[in-house]
Amino acid sequence: MASQQDEQERVARCACGNLEVTTRGEPIDVYICSCLACQRGTGSAFSYAAIFPESAVSSAGNSRTYRQYGDSGRFIESYFCPTCGTAVLFRAEGFPGAVGVPVGCFADPSFARPAKLYWASRRHHWLDLPESIVLINTQ
Ligand SMILES: [Zn+2]
Ligand SMILES: [Zn+2]
Repeated sequence: MASQQDEQERVARCACGNLEVTTRGEPIDVYICSCLACQRGTGSAFSYAAIFPESAVSSAGNSRTYRQYGDSGRFIESYFCPTCGTAVLFRAEGFPGAVGVPVGCFADPSFARPAKLYWASRRHHWLDLPESIVLINTQ
């Protein structure tokens, strides 16, 4: 049996379905981040992302890219659908050789929980998290 057959495939999609990202196997990291750049980029209180090795991810459909600099000063380049604007993939300077997928695009409420919260110092005041999520204060 080829081990590839045991690897779970997941499909992340934008809101309109034009841009699709397929991942194989389990993510190497799952995190949430409440830096202000992520708050603006998502329109929400924090981003929720899964990191996969670049070789485990393929994409289909038209995309445009947008590079922004996080609170850390390092860039994140988002690949978003030109029709509906949803970002389905990103590359980050902080994760060389890997790509990230915003977890919400999998539309899978059973997806792995985040292991850590980056920029815990900038989280919204009401956000209480389980103790299993490590708070990382970048500043
Ligand atoms: Zn779309
Ligand atoms: Zn962030």
